[in-house]
Amino acid sequence: MEKSYFFNIFKLFRSTENKPVEVIRVSTLASYWYCSVKAWLQAQGVEPEIENEATEIGTKIHNAISKARSLSEWEKEFERHLKQFFIKVDAGKGTTAFNETEGKVLARAWKRNGETVGYIVTHGLDDYEVSPNREVTLIEYKTTNQRYIDNYKLSTALFQLKLYWWILVPLLSQVGYRIVQARLVYLNRKGEILGEKIIRQDESQYYENENYKDDWFVYNTVKVEKDIANIFLAFENPDKLIPPAKFKCFNCSDAYKKRCPFAKTVMS
Ligand code: SF4
Repeated sequence: MEKSYFFNIFKLFRSTENKPVEVIRVSTLASYWYCSVKAWLQAQGVEPEIENEATEIGTKIHNAISKARSLSEWEKEFERHLKQFFIKVDAGKGTTAFNETEGKVLARAWKRNGETVGYIVTHGLDDYEVSPNREVTLIEYKTTNQRYIDNYKLSTALFQLKLYWWILVPLLSQVGYRIVQARLVYLNRKGEILGEKIIRQDESQYYENENYKDDWFVYNTVKVEKDIANIFLAFENPDKLIPPAKFKCFNCSDAYKKRCPFAKTVMS
């Protein structure tokens, strides 16, 4: 399927030039939890940082691990099933465990009042495990130069996994696959495992509204959709975006700083 698949689009939100934004990547949406302003700029096409040496090492380790293991017969079947849903859309670069899907993404329509207003897309997950009875574990690898799992980045990574989960459910459930958990694996720059975090599913009302101690580690469809809706609402009203903790601004790339309405105030 080519880009014509994306018809009848109103908008996810409007950019500063009043242009409708129709497609957003999972990673951009998830980065809202690190800095809402940076995510808003990224969603309008502001280029991410130029890759530095540490990022390149991280990407190499990440790719090597996600493609290293050999797939079981049922995992190959899972891959064949999912590959039919990849569509060609210009959504920048991205890594994935799936071969021959370059330049393609998996997408799920975002609806408002029953009408499709845009698409949330991903190049695919890093890795997965599938059992013979079609139970699926989603896996995401993150490399870091820190010696511990940093909570500031954890919220972003966990939401990214929940968005993969949200996109995949309709594509998998029609043939009996069931996502049973998502696993976030942190690696150091040598490729050694630092630790991992597990997300489980709980569709009870308890998790739909408020924040609970363990809700970072729970996938709840209503809660995920509320979070997505709130992010688009914030992007529609950028004057209400809240700048993050100061240290994030000091480490922010110039590409964002020069367009960020808060950079001067926050850093003065
Ligand atoms: S300068 Fe600060 S507020 Fe602005 S995009 Fe960067 S991290 Fe976010």
